[in-house]
Amino acid sequence: MSGRDTRVRKWLAGRWRQVRAGWCALCERASRDDADRLRRQYLESEQRFRALLESLPRVAVQGYDRHRRVIYWNDASTRLYGYAPDEVQGRLLEELIIPDAMREPVIRAHHAWVEQGVEIPAEELELQHKSGERVPVFSHHVMLNEHTDDPLMFCIDVDLSDQKRAHRELDFATRFDALTHLPNRQTFEAQLDELLAHCRSQDTVLALLYLDIDRFVEINDALGYEQGDRLLVELSRRLHRIKGGADPMARLSGDEFVIAFPGVRREEVAVQLVQKVQQALRAPFVVGGVRRQVTACLGISCYPDNGASARELVRHADVAKNRAKLDGRGSVWFFDQRLHDELLHQHRLVERLEWALERDELALHYQPLVSVESGRIEHLEALLRWQSAEGAPISPTEFIPLAEQSDLIHRLGDWVMETACRQRARWRDLGLPIGRIDINLSGRQVSRPDLVERFEACLARHGLGAGHIGIELTEHVLIEADERILEGLRRLHRQGYHIAIDDFGTGYSSLSYLKHFPVKALKIDRAFVRDAPELSDDRAILEAAVFIGHRLGLEVVAEGVETHEQLALIQALRCEWVQGFHFFHPMSAADIERLLAGRGAGEEGNSG
Ligand code: C2E
Ligand code: MG
Ligand code: MG
Repeated sequence: MSGRDTRVRKWLAGRWRQVRAGWCALCERASRDDADRLRRQYLESEQRFRALLESLPRVAVQGYDRHRRVIYWNDASTRLYGYAPDEVQGRLLEELIIPDAMREPVIRAHHAWVEQGVEIPAEELELQHKSGERVPVFSHHVMLNEHTDDPLMFCIDVDLSDQKRAHRELDFATRFDALTHLPNRQTFEAQLDELLAHCRSQDTVLALLYLDIDRFVEINDALGYEQGDRLLVELSRRLHRIKGGADPMARLSGDEFVIAFPGVRREEVAVQLVQKVQQALRAPFVVGGVRRQVTACLGISCYPDNGASARELVRHADVAKNRAKLDGRGSVWFFDQRLHDELLHQHRLVERLEWALERDELALHYQPLVSVESGRIEHLEALLRWQSAEGAPISPTEFIPLAEQSDLIHRLGDWVMETACRQRARWRDLGLPIGRIDINLSGRQVSRPDLVERFEACLARHGLGAGHIGIELTEHVLIEADERILEGLRRLHRQGYHIAIDDFGTGYSSLSYLKHFPVKALKIDRAFVRDAPELSDDRAILEAAVFIGHRLGLEVVAEGVETHEQLALIQALRCEWVQGFHFFHPMSAADIERLLAGRGAGEEGNSG
């Protein structure tokens, strides 16, 4: 029999003696049978009690003698504290599961109970596992044989680890981002406000950087959310490496991160931060087995110049970031008040533009493309016009980039496509002698996954084909197009659709891309045409562009021809087409009808 059992038996025997004294009186009156029955019942109840203690899987019960030496240790105690019953017999409570800092108070409390009857209340405690790890428990204490020579303290501990873990997880979920484990907005703002208080007291500065991944939506659309998430996690890791250990950093929403850099002043930002961030993005991200180059726009606000509170600095860095977005991929902007006002103006403009779509304030004008050889109008370019009810007409160069910032561009694009197709079908029905109407497509429109299908469906609705509607895209759009988009464009190209590169010469310096793209024509930007007669550099660029276009078997269109001299040059270079105020301004559909009616109805242009 083990020492533990001996102690427990002794304790049971003690209790047994107490009860027996009571029996004697009883026995005098009761029969012998009754006494046996009572004795049996008592023993059974003791056994049940013991079995109960042993079988409670999550209630750890330990018994200690008056010197706090272990006399009882159930299996749940072993599971909770790591000690087997044999290891603990006779050892002191404070040596086993009481952390160092609690030892003295525990001993004092035990003495007070044994000697003065001051109970130890039930309470939540952090005790200690054999491994040294902390164990959160709710602990009840019971004193048996109180006021005798053999007081026994029993501790009944309930493991709180699961509750604590659940509590920690809940706390984490409300304060941190589940994906990247970075602080969320509230936590970040609290951290930043604390840091700003420190900056104030130390009279130092701080730079706040707001980062937004370019075209993250497309990455998500193309590769799925799971891969998008991986990219975000990888990015947060990379950003972690470029900041100081304690500098607050957060993911504010989808693909937006902020980092605070205490001690960095405005003038140092470009060197210290922007370069670091760009460096962090330089290596391609491998998502879904594909290497992807990722860029991001950055907005920066500085303490104390651009705000005194976390909320204000974050808002202003966000404003600067939104301005950077307008400049295209990888742009960087600093906040300033003028910028804020400008963005407010733009915001209002976008609201008005949404109204304009509904209130019929938009129209398409058409600018003829004239054949250099014959001098005849062959095709038209559709150009969007907005005559706002509230004032002067607004240029597409102003509102298209704004519409590009949201899905509004898709509604505008659909409207342009539909209107151009309806117009082209009407002119076909009227027998007007005209070839194509070319429509302009901007970057975000082209990246729409179903763009080509929508285009084909729109043409089909109006019974039009490849010779009726063409497309203009800038170099920029083509360079950034991914394989899926290019495949769609190739399909259109194979079907005979006319695709032209617009504003050629203003986008990229590398020309090697030209041979890969499914295009039929180059439209040389009017900036080169304008100054070519006077400036030899511009003439050289114009000549080179025409030469390259022709060598690649492309038609060349000269945009913005306004004068005789410009036209003479274009003719000498043997461009195929010319467009510009020298011939025609963009004009309304009614004006086009009047103009072409003079050329005689019934004669179709070179529509396919
Ligand atoms: P773009 O496609 O390069 O259009 C040519 C622009 O040059 C037009 O300006 C036209 O009015 C102007 N232009 C034509 N000939 C001359 C000339 O001889 N001299 C001068 N100074 N300008 C000339 P607009 O209509 O203001 O359009 C500007 C840009 O807005 C377009 O450039 C195009 O990129 C965009 N845009 C216009 N309509 C649409 C549209 O429906 N969708 C999209 N995505 N973009 C459009
Ligand atoms: Mg154009
Ligand atoms: Mg152009």
